[in-house]
Amino acid sequence: MALDRFGRKIHYLRISLTDHCNLRCVYCMPEAMTFRPSDELMQDDEVLLLAGLFADLGFDKVRLTGGEPTLRAHIVDIVRGIASTPGICSVSMTTNGVLLSRLAKPLAEAGLQRVNISIDTLNPAKFNRLTRWGDLEDVWEGIQAAEQAGLRPIKLNTVIVAGYNEKDSIELARLTLEHSWQVRFIEMMPFAGATDVQLTHLVTAEQIQAMIESTLGKMEIVNGGGLDGEARLFRLPGGHGDIGIISSVTEPFCASCTRARLTADGILRMCLLREYEIDLLTPLRAGASPTDLKKMILEAVWNKPWGHGLAEGVIPLNRTMSEIGG
Ligand code: SAM
Repeated sequence: MALDRFGRKIHYLRISLTDHCNLRCVYCMPEAMTFRPSDELMQDDEVLLLAGLFADLGFDKVRLTGGEPTLRAHIVDIVRGIASTPGICSVSMTTNGVLLSRLAKPLAEAGLQRVNISIDTLNPAKFNRLTRWGDLEDVWEGIQAAEQAGLRPIKLNTVIVAGYNEKDSIELARLTLEHSWQVRFIEMMPFAGATDVQLTHLVTAEQIQAMIESTLGKMEIVNGGGLDGEARLFRLPGGHGDIGIISSVTEPFCASCTRARLTADGILRMCLLREYEIDLLTPLRAGASPTDLKKMILEAVWNKPWGHGLAEGVIPLNRTMSEIGG
């Protein structure tokens, strides 16, 4: 079991499979983003080998992310490989959903259990403005394909950006009246690449909740106020699904964090909002043994940071969000 120095059991690995993306969300990366050459990224066998080492250390839950994970060549085979790794019980994916209409079924057959699909508005013109390149219809078809493929529960991720989509939270929240989906609203966090937008267009969890309740009525707290992952859950009167509010900036949830993140270039990052990282790919390519690599992982886990420093102006600027994966 991998424990950190605060006694947290770290058993949830998020693997970014590529830094490339087919959208350019204004709050995530610049439009003229440059990506890493593919030989700098973990190759398929390296992803599976590292996933196996984490599993040996007690990691039982894997989420695939990116960039956009569905752009990764051999994505179905990678999912199959991870899902069949001894010790891994849960494989999920965070995706923009653009390619899910054709991939949801093969991914589910390969062992993918759940997806979180990012959708920031139900208005096609605004969707295109926020993502710069996106067509809302593709995402909507992706959500339906995910449902048909049995990828459940469906969770939708919405980042609220002031001046772009605050009011859209109401229509998105309304989806839970008809669907048993979890619609999650995420406070925007600052990283490299889009720092100005991220710092100046934050809408807080409290403001998001107030906006939804002002139109749709007071929400009931679900789960006694306990967290589902990082989300505090609510339900609208008469709702079928849940509304999750994720207050990463204003009220972080470090005490219940169980995560480690592996970037597409094979770097282990122990906190989304701290720059602390350990390179695993270079030693792996230099011939480090599984035992050596596991020691490095355990040491990084032990040193997992607690708490972000945003209030003190400490912003993690060594990567864009798209390089870390969320
Ligand atoms: N391409 C995939 C997607 O769109 O879901 C996976 C990668 S994306 C970086 C993962 C999640 O991070 C998405 O839900 C996205 O909206 C969210 N995200 C991106 N930039 C963010 C930021 N600055 N603050 C909070 N969430 C952000």
